[in-house]
Amino acid sequence: MKIETKAIHEGWKPTQGEARQVPIVQSTTFKYDTSDAMGKLFDLEAEGYFYTRLQNPTNDAVAAKICAMEGGVAAMLTSSGQAANFYAIFNICECGDHFIASSSIYGGTYNLFGTTMKKMGIECTFVDQTLPEEELEKYFKPNTKAVFGETITNPTVSIFDFQKFARLAHKHGVPLIVDNTFATPVNCRPFEWGADIVTHSTTKYMDGHGVGVGGCIVDSGNFDWSAHAEKFPGLTSPDESYHGITYTERFGKGAYITKATSQLMRDFGSIQSPQNAFYLNLGLESLHLRMERHCSNALAIAKFLKNHEKVAWVHYAGLEGDEYHDLAMKYMNGNTCGVLAFGIKGGREASIAFMDKLKLAQIATHVADAKTCLLHPASHTHRQMSEQELLAAGVNPDLIRLSVGIENVDDLIEDLAQALK
Ligand SMILES: *Cc1c(COP(=O)(O)O)cnc(C)c1O
Repeated sequence: MKIETKAIHEGWKPTQGEARQVPIVQSTTFKYDTSDAMGKLFDLEAEGYFYTRLQNPTNDAVAAKICAMEGGVAAMLTSSGQAANFYAIFNICECGDHFIASSSIYGGTYNLFGTTMKKMGIECTFVDQTLPEEELEKYFKPNTKAVFGETITNPTVSIFDFQKFARLAHKHGVPLIVDNTFATPVNCRPFEWGADIVTHSTTKYMDGHGVGVGGCIVDSGNFDWSAHAEKFPGLTSPDESYHGITYTERFGKGAYITKATSQLMRDFGSIQSPQNAFYLNLGLESLHLRMERHCSNALAIAKFLKNHEKVAWVHYAGLEGDEYHDLAMKYMNGNTCGVLAFGIKGGREASIAFMDKLKLAQIATHVADAKTCLLHPASHTHRQMSEQELLAAGVNPDLIRLSVGIENVDDLIEDLAQALK
């Protein structure tokens, strides 16, 4: 099936007389006939549900849909995108380990990796993702366990060079993990370009209507953990908390997600509620239609801004002449997302004044839903960063992040024009 059909039909396949829409299994617990039947679940010897802190059928159906759309082998939902990125790394990194991340990533992930995980003894080196391969190579260490980037960075909307980073990661025997939130599998499927694990903040386009915070992790099944067993003992040596099973031996290509579910979800409990998973599924059913409109609206607005005398600069990789246009053509056929970044002549103050004059576009700490919204990262999401850190992350003090919705584009342009005036 093509991705549009998968978005409608994957995950939940009703049999005769069953509900056509995925049911919300609003239950904490599941019943067993014998003590032994339930006991087997605790040894991971049988598959089944017992407690919604670890797994729930509604979540699993929706995760299976996202898994199919990405072309993976296994997936799990999490309570937020933050939880997804934390689990994705923590599932293979422990105290004393190191990983490499692009410095242009989302501010929340930057804090998580640079500050909070550091307190757990896990070190992250942030790198300029535009550096050539031989420069990036120097950041790898013997204890490096992963490489992390975003398909389209938030908020600078630059495009990740998958093949460059996949070559580097694989040369050093570690997986490439990519946050595919902004592109969605409709516009880009990172596994086709060498990524091993994909994460999502489903809060954004996948939900698409701003109703539920959520996340997802998908495993391609392509990374051979056993070939680098000494780097990944958590996957390749016995887990004492499950009577000594070894994930790679018992679960093969499902090892990574099984470990994340049975250890991390068990211990941290960042599961998505089944109700939110249901909303997410509704969003997924129209994702392909909405992405088309988000992209065509954003391209029209990028062109309008580019030609406006009061606009200093515009970044939108869908725009011909943009520094990331070639990468956008290569990895996503020119269709990126509805988010663009620009600055107003007159710097930081002018950008803030412009935002306050908008009538239709809303100021909100959000991106990637049906309603056009915008924020000023230097005043909002990246407020904790110093000027120096802002510049290292490519965030100009005047940068406005505009998330173009699916309204009529003429109404949006009229609003922007009156505010610029
Ligand atoms: C929003 C976002 C996150 C964090 O997701 P939450 O659902 O808000 O926790 C992570 N990565 C990217 C690219 C995001 O845009």
